[in-house]
Amino acid sequence: MKGILVSYDFCTGCHSCEVACKKELGLGKEEYGIKINELGPHKYENGKKTGTWEWTFAPMLTKACDLCASRTEQGKMPMCVQHCQAWCMAYGELDELVKKLDGKSRYAFLTPLES
Ligand code: SF4
Ligand code: SF4
Repeated sequence: MKGILVSYDFCTGCHSCEVACKKELGLGKEEYGIKINELGPHKYENGKKTGTWEWTFAPMLTKACDLCASRTEQGKMPMCVQHCQAWCMAYGELDELVKKLDGKSRYAFLTPLES
């Protein structure tokens, strides 16, 4: 099964993936194939006296995402992956993507609905 791996610690919330996807799918203003969710800002203490602030951006696929089937069939990357400003997204077989997990960053696997 194919999907997208996101190293979301490096996502800046720039929304470029959303814009690129809208263009690819021809979506309207309020429609999305991928949507950035924002978590925080909130304080993260971790048992220490001096905590730190956490503000996380996490992309999620919507039901409109078809994993850019027309592009990937031609060997191209999905539009959102190609336009990610932080290069924090990768596309491929999940069992290959899992090899990128290094324990130094938080990751999420994104998979679309099967058509
Ligand atoms: S894979 Fe393609 S359709 Fe899915 S979110 Fe990314 S750009 Fe949109
Ligand atoms: S393009 Fe990349 S860095 Fe920008 S919001 Fe999307 S996933 Fe995050």
